[in-house]
Amino acid sequence: MRRLEGRVALVTGAASGIGRATARRLAEEGAAVLLTDVDEALGATTTAELAQTGARVEFLRHDVTSEGDWEAAVAHAVEAFGGLDVLVNNAGMGDLATIEETSLEDWQRTVAVDQTGVFLGMRTAAPHLKASAHGSVVNISSIFGTSGGFGTSPAYHAAKGAVRTLTKNVALHWAGEGVRVNSIHPGFIDTPILDSARGTPFEQVMVDLTPMGRLGRPEEVAAGVAYLASDDAAFVTGLELYIDGGYIAR
Ligand code: NAP
Repeated sequence: MRRLEGRVALVTGAASGIGRATARRLAEEGAAVLLTDVDEALGATTTAELAQTGARVEFLRHDVTSEGDWEAAVAHAVEAFGGLDVLVNNAGMGDLATIEETSLEDWQRTVAVDQTGVFLGMRTAAPHLKASAHGSVVNISSIFGTSGGFGTSPAYHAAKGAVRTLTKNVALHWAGEGVRVNSIHPGFIDTPILDSARGTPFEQVMVDLTPMGRLGRPEEVAAGVAYLASDDAAFVTGLELYIDGGYIAR
């Protein structure tokens, strides 16, 4: 399907995992895509691979915690591709620390990336999203934005929970202006973010806690992003979409 023909998308954290699969899917749907990430080497490689498929893609180093980087990223998308219709706030990080093990610095870093980055992205892109006839924001939260998970990673849970309600808040604010804002809540998806759990008891626990009995694939999350970004979701805003193999249904 080419539901995003003529549209421009910006995907953060696009060098790897869900962001990479999302950039690929949006490009397959016809969008020009600006991929951004802090990992310059991997971002450039991912973008070069996509360009070889004929996709209109560019890469920019972009730290989502930086106001200046956001200004540059949005300006780059507009200059390179003529506007901005779709913003995917995907960049994220997490750890397995407990609350006692979480320093203030760790807490602030996670909140800066996973929560403040989403705020900065929507605020910076706002004029262009409103100018678009098809403005759509997809914020990547998590099942851990809703559930308490393993009782670890308190900063990650707090930030992802904030993204869930921030999404609904901005969805209501922009509902009359033609910009839709939705969140996606992935379950356990097989990407490098799970590397810290590999070889630990958490690895099997993640599968056992998933009713469908397997980890998800990044492409399965990307399909949800493409739906929410497209006019197939023209009457959908403020939604929290779970792509989790049934985890949250328990
Ligand atoms: P991933 O493969 O680690 O990708 C995340 C990307 O974001 C990495 O390339 C990372 O770069 C980048 N990044 C980190 N900090 C950044 C910053 N400050 N500015 C810009 N980019 C930054 O992980 P993923 O699984 O695809 O995660 C994508 C999103 O899905 C995250 O928001 C994550 O919380 C969410 N999620 C994932 C799962 C899962 O099971 N995989 C489940 C629920 C939600 P570095 O590697 O260099 O740090």
